[in-house]
Amino acid sequence: MSHLFEHHGAPGQGYSQPAPVMKAADIPLPTALLRKDLPRWPRLSEPEMVRHYTWLSRRNFGIDTGFYPLGSCTMKHNPRVNEVIAQLPGIADIHPHQPEHHLQGLLSIYHEMQYMLEVCAGMDQVTLQPVAGAQGEFTAVRCIQEYFRLRGETQRTKVIVPDSAHGTNPASAAMCGFEIVEIPSRVDGRIDLDALRAVADDTIAVMMITNPNTLGLFEKDILEASSIVHSVGGQMYYDGANFNAILGITSPGLMGFDAVHFNLHKTFSQPHGGGGPGSGPIGVKAHLAEFLPGPLVEKRTPVGDESKHAIDGAWYGWYEPEHSIGKVQQWHGNAGAIIRCWAYYRRYGSGLRTMSEHAVLNANYLRHAIHKATKKAGVDHMVVDGAEAVVAKHEFTLSLGPAKEAFGISAMDVAKGLLDMGYMAPTVYFPLVVPECMMIEPTETESLDTLDTFATHFAEVLQVDAETLHAAPITTPVRRVDEVYAARNLCLRHPFDE
Ligand SMILES: *Cc1c(COP(=O)(O)O)cnc(C)c1O
Repeated sequence: MSHLFEHHGAPGQGYSQPAPVMKAADIPLPTALLRKDLPRWPRLSEPEMVRHYTWLSRRNFGIDTGFYPLGSCTMKHNPRVNEVIAQLPGIADIHPHQPEHHLQGLLSIYHEMQYMLEVCAGMDQVTLQPVAGAQGEFTAVRCIQEYFRLRGETQRTKVIVPDSAHGTNPASAAMCGFEIVEIPSRVDGRIDLDALRAVADDTIAVMMITNPNTLGLFEKDILEASSIVHSVGGQMYYDGANFNAILGITSPGLMGFDAVHFNLHKTFSQPHGGGGPGSGPIGVKAHLAEFLPGPLVEKRTPVGDESKHAIDGAWYGWYEPEHSIGKVQQWHGNAGAIIRCWAYYRRYGSGLRTMSEHAVLNANYLRHAIHKATKKAGVDHMVVDGAEAVVAKHEFTLSLGPAKEAFGISAMDVAKGLLDMGYMAPTVYFPLVVPECMMIEPTETESLDTLDTFATHFAEVLQVDAETLHAAPITTPVRRVDEVYAARNLCLRHPFDE
C-alpha cells in the first residue's frame, strides 16, 4: 500500500504559506524545543494530495457504501440534514469559554436534550458529558460508588454482570475498583434468577445489564431481577446500547433501573465506527443526581440583566452538582454529536417509537428471511438460532456451530465470505455464550430489498466450499489479517528509515 511519505514528488514544496510576521530569532523559545531538522513533510502537489485521500476513502467500507449489519453497534443511516444543522455558525463557531449570555441558544438545546433523554429513559437527571457508552458506564458506576461511600456502605465491593454482557460492563466496573461477579444465562438466553438470588447480598453495589440483552431477547423477568438487587440495597445499571429496540415503548425507569447510559451514536444520529466520535450521556434517578459530573444545564427565571438575553422568558445556565465525582471530559461533552442527535430527535419526536418498531420488525424479518433462504438452498442445517427464542428484538444471533462441526466452516469464514459479497460482516464471536456466534442488526433504515438480497447472499456464502472460504476475503484491499498478531503488536507510526 502506498503511503504519503513514500511520494518524493517534485523538488520544492506543494504548499505556500504567508511569510512569518516575526523572525524565528525574535521568538524567545527554549532552544531545546526548536527543531534541529526540517519536518519530513511529503512533497506533494495539490492534485496528488487530493488523489491520495480520495484513493484512501475508496478503500474504506462504510454505511454509505453498503449494508452494515454489525450487531450491537447499530450502524444506521445518518440523515445529512443533521450535519447541516450541527455546522450552523451559531453552533459550530462558538467557544466553550464564551459567557453564558452568548450561549443561550446552545444551552437551551442542551437543556432540551437532557430533558428528552430523561423522558426516554424514565430518569430524573441526565448529564451529556461522557463521550462514549463505555465512559458513561464508568461515570455512572463511579456516581453509585460515591453514593454508597457517603452512606457509609463501603462493604459493597462487587458488581454483578450476566455472562452475555458486553465486555465494557465488567471493564468499567473493574476500573472503579469493583470485583466482578458473573452470573450464567439460562438455556433460553435470559438471566437466571436463581443464580442472581444466590449471589445477592449486602456486598453487591450494582447489577449491570442491557435489555433487550445482547442476544436480542427481552428480559421478561427484569422487574423481578431489579427487586432482588434492590432488596439487598444494590443499584440497577442499564446498558443503553440497545435503546434502538425500546424507544417510546418502555424505559429503564419502568424496569426498575437507577442509572443508564445512552449511546447517542448508536440510537440517534451520529456517524461512528473506527472508535468514534461518540456521545454517551447518562441518566440517573434523583438520589444519584448530586454525584453527576458537571456542568449540567438548568432552566430558570432570568434575574436582572439576564432577561435581555433570555429566550421566551427563560434563562439557561450551567451548574455543578453538589457532590459531583468531577469531570470525565473536557468542556461540555461532544457538542457536535449532541447537536446532530438533538436535530434527529426534533425531526422525529414521538415518531421515535415507530423507529424502534421498524428496527425490531426489520430484525425479525431478516431472521426469517435468512432461515427461508438457507432452507431453499438446502443449507439450513448449517445454522441454528443463538437462543431458543422465537421473537428477537432489534438484533438476533445465529450459531454457525453446525457448519463448523460438519464442514469446518467457522463464523469467521462466513463473515469473510460476506465481505467478498460487498457487505460489512455481522459481529462475530459475541456474545460469548453462543458457539460460533454471528450477531446481526439490520436497523430500521434498510429496505426490504436490501434485507432479501442479503439473506440470499448469506445462503450463497454457505454453499461455498470450505477451502475457498478459508481464503476469503479475496476482493478487499487487505486480505485476511492476523488479528491476534495485529492487536498484540501495535504499529501506529510509519517506519521511517532512520
Ligand atoms: C457499543 C456497546 C457498548 C459500549 O459503547 P461505546 O459507545 O462503544 O463505548 C456497551 N454495551 C453494549 C451492549 C454495546 O453494544
